[in-house]
Amino acid sequence: ADVIQADSLISAAHFKGHELAGFGGTIKNLGMGCASRKGKLAQHCEISPEFDAKKCIGCGECVAHCPADAIELLKEKKAKKDSDKCIGCGECIAVCPEEAVSIPWDSDTARFQKKMVEYTVGVLKDKEDRAFHLSFVSRVTPQCDCYGFSDAPLVKDLGILASKDPVAIDQASVDLVNAQPALADCCLETNRGPGEDKFRGVYPHIDWSIQLGYAEELGLGSRDYELVYI
Ligand code: SF4
Ligand code: SF4
Repeated sequence: ADVIQADSLISAAHFKGHELAGFGGTIKNLGMGCASRKGKLAQHCEISPEFDAKKCIGCGECVAHCPADAIELLKEKKAKKDSDKCIGCGECIAVCPEEAVSIPWDSDTARFQKKMVEYTVGVLKDKEDRAFHLSFVSRVTPQCDCYGFSDAPLVKDLGILASKDPVAIDQASVDLVNAQPALADCCLETNRGPGEDKFRGVYPHIDWSIQLGYAEELGLGSRDYELVYI
């Protein structure tokens, strides 16, 4: 309600990877960050991870990280999800060392990104001309900031971007990151070179461009931009 009633809006987003959207930047900061708890759940609700018992080694990482207490470790050392409790946050996918947890990547992550964009449209409604966005492209970690841990950054710190266009600032941020070589100690095993897609390297199944394309389609902004260095 506070966001709706505000006369103007300044967004300060940390640009980083995201396990469901590929990357999280200004659009995610607005659409997800400004949503109520109910709105956050609505955006995640179509994410329904499946657990592959053949791959599961019963390490318990997913149980320890699940914020909804929705996973139990069966006595045969296999993880089992309680669908009634699951909030679709995707943390179990990110922390599983055996890739035993998955979702239908094409459909679920596309729907997630589009919902996030639609919420962003709602957040900016009637204040498009009175909104300003900052993107902190530093400590570009592979995962979202909501985790209780942080992996090594993918690339060197690149500075702070500023724009009135939430689409252009995310496009420019992702382009800047992808233009860099990967840092030596980061998790990337592929796409390490300058010009290679670092976020596809971390999340090969996720097409992050869906959020930008859909945002442009809904009139949130433009993927074209001009970088002015200060
Ligand atoms: S998606 Fe989130 S809430 Fe659902 S089982 Fe995985 S960690 Fe728990
Ligand atoms: S993190 Fe993966 S391997 Fe470990 S218990 Fe959960 S599903 Fe099984």
